[in-house]
Amino acid sequence: MQVMKNKKCVVLLSGGLDSTTTLFYVLSQKYNPTCLIFDYGQRHKKEIYSAKKIAQYAKCKYYVVKISFPWKGSSLLDTRLPIPKHTDFKKNTEPYLPSTYVPARNIIFLSYAVSLAEVLSAEYIFYGANQIDFSGYPDCRLEFIKSFQKMANIGTGLKLKNKKIKIVAPLINFSKDQIVTLAVKLKVPLELTWSCYQGKRKPCGVCDACRLRANGFKKAGIKDPLTK
Ligand SMILES: [Zn+2]
Repeated sequence: MQVMKNKKCVVLLSGGLDSTTTLFYVLSQKYNPTCLIFDYGQRHKKEIYSAKKIAQYAKCKYYVVKISFPWKGSSLLDTRLPIPKHTDFKKNTEPYLPSTYVPARNIIFLSYAVSLAEVLSAEYIFYGANQIDFSGYPDCRLEFIKSFQKMANIGTGLKLKNKKIKIVAPLINFSKDQIVTLAVKLKVPLELTWSCYQGKRKPCGVCDACRLRANGFKKAGIKDPLTK
């Protein structure tokens, strides 16, 4: 991978395994990150707490941006809807959207990231999207990222400033066990990360996020500090 010395960048940080590993990858490559954390009305605040702890642990600048989706439209936002358990997403041949999909959320998050990058004169946005072991969200796919990058370069003042923004998703084609292995190599504080869609004391073990994470750790042969 290409090494970019002392480059300013924006990192979308959710407090989960993928975005945290992305942050530590960025640090290992000597970028200078500013983290962007969203308080978007998710059903629990635990991931925001995790993300802040991780940014502090990594000694990174960060912003917590409060936004809202008053119309909800997702089980991550609407506590009246159950979080699906044991979704057989791998066996689904038709494209489908799990109820945990938040309509256009990552478009909104990346838009904030582009705005911050433009103000910071940062040329890179790092996004922990993954299209291998994921829940099928359309905004985690490479096609989306490429299109968004193109749009961002056309629809901002970057062009006039002779700048170009690049949206980098280093984990896009990693399997979950490869992400776990990389996380360990990069000394990610795994005990601070939080992937579960529920905000209980311990991960629920049955939501998609828990199952993807558990499979990743199992295949990598590493014990998850959260489920010890
Ligand atoms: Zn869970």
